[in-house]
Amino acid sequence: MGMIIQGVTGDWEVVIGLEVHAQVSSNAKLFSGSATEYGAEQNTQVSFVDAAMPGMLPVINTAAVEQAVKTGLGLKAKINNFSVFDRKNYFYADLPQGYQISQFLQPIVGEGILTIDLKDGVTREIGITRLHLEQDAGKSIHDQHPSMTLVDLNRSGVALMEIVSEPDMRSPEEAAAYVKKLRSILRYLGTCDGNMDEGSMRADVNVSVRRPGDDLGTRCEMKNLNSVRFIQQAIVYEANRQVDILEEGGKIDQETRLYDSVKGETRSMRSKEEAHDYRYFPDPDLLPLQFDDAFVAKIKADLPELPDEKKDRFMNTLGISAYDAGVLVAEKEVADFFEDVAKGRDAKLSVNWVTGEFFGNLKRTGKTIATSPVSADALGEVIDLIKDGTISNRIAKEVFEEMFDTGKSASNIVEEKGLKQVSDTGAIEAAIDDVIAANPDKLAEYRGGKDKLLGFFMGQVMKNTGGKANPGVVNKLLKPKLDG
Ligand code: ADP
Ligand code: MG
Repeated sequence: MGMIIQGVTGDWEVVIGLEVHAQVSSNAKLFSGSATEYGAEQNTQVSFVDAAMPGMLPVINTAAVEQAVKTGLGLKAKINNFSVFDRKNYFYADLPQGYQISQFLQPIVGEGILTIDLKDGVTREIGITRLHLEQDAGKSIHDQHPSMTLVDLNRSGVALMEIVSEPDMRSPEEAAAYVKKLRSILRYLGTCDGNMDEGSMRADVNVSVRRPGDDLGTRCEMKNLNSVRFIQQAIVYEANRQVDILEEGGKIDQETRLYDSVKGETRSMRSKEEAHDYRYFPDPDLLPLQFDDAFVAKIKADLPELPDEKKDRFMNTLGISAYDAGVLVAEKEVADFFEDVAKGRDAKLSVNWVTGEFFGNLKRTGKTIATSPVSADALGEVIDLIKDGTISNRIAKEVFEEMFDTGKSASNIVEEKGLKQVSDTGAIEAAIDDVIAANPDKLAEYRGGKDKLLGFFMGQVMKNTGGKANPGVVNKLLKPKLDG
């Protein structure tokens, strides 16, 4: 599954590690009571603490701590009952404190594991190094005044979880699968909304290349990528850039690079020599975080079923394939919808209808599950009508499209349009007789050994009955008649 770049001098393997910043879903900031709503008017969600007015003191938001612990448990990680907040000192116009409160040597969450889902139901485990809590900075706005930079402090102090992976990924696809799986888990947990286009999840991407089997090469880090597509593009570009340098006998400078998504290339921002010395030290305004096992146990007891466990359950108790189960559980909304449809019904048929016709019609009509005119119960009724022989599978698809377009129920449409499947043998026999009488030459060919014509006759009978004949009954009656 790894990405190998073939150079003139031999093969190169790509190594990737990700640092993801995920905004904690919480009504208040990490150390103040200010609101965190997205898209609010600039500088309307800023307390004296967030603006770093002299003498203001941070107060830890317990809800944010619980969210971090919950996320750690969701990542099957070690929870550290003792952790410390540090000051990371640097100057930036949108960082009024002159430092960011973060965690350095003693983070709240230690090592964990994330299982990524690759093609054809293949999975791989990626190591999580740590998760720590920190504050977000404000935002500098350069394009609203001809000669000044404006600052919006709404984000200042918002709680972030920085989730650091081991350098365990080997291809852009694996990095994409990692980000998607992490986002899925965060959404299941309700600890981050995962909306990358709103900045609630962004990734720093570390890339190096090496000869297969060698030690790790020198890495470059690309900051703040906010879409899965950009992450993949940046990795491909960066890995090839590094291979070109190494192939020419050069060496990689460890540096921070910027990915320009318009030009599709990375550019140097600063090298290791210019790297900041952040002068970390424990924040004297904050006590260490300390909790007992009972605190962690309570959060653990309230954890929802996560995508991996749901996938196992779908496979083991419903007999669904690894691939289908993976598709269904990726988004909780889809998994819930599917479970409502499948309740008391044939699982395989339910999977096919949800991932096939239902997704297809959502796409056709530009709807989502939330805005779908067809509910899980309404789709369930279609499946029931197929199962009890009222309509054929083919008619059901037509009915389903009409349900999307009109919002009517399946039974209403079947009733109104007279689409009930005909299973009455007398009527079907009559239709078969008509078809045979109208095609004497085809009948002769069939009887002369051209077995394939069975399909032709089948099609004609279905056509003659407006698609309403029960295919099972037609099948049973047709052959003896053709054979004479
Ligand atoms: P720092 O503390 O300087 O940020 P870390 O050792 O914590 O450095 O690593 C940061 C990220 O870089 C991690 O996600 C890690 O997996 C990744 N990483 C470290 N070494 C490499 C490497 N040689 N190639 C690719 N990624 C790497
Ligand atoms: Mg780092």
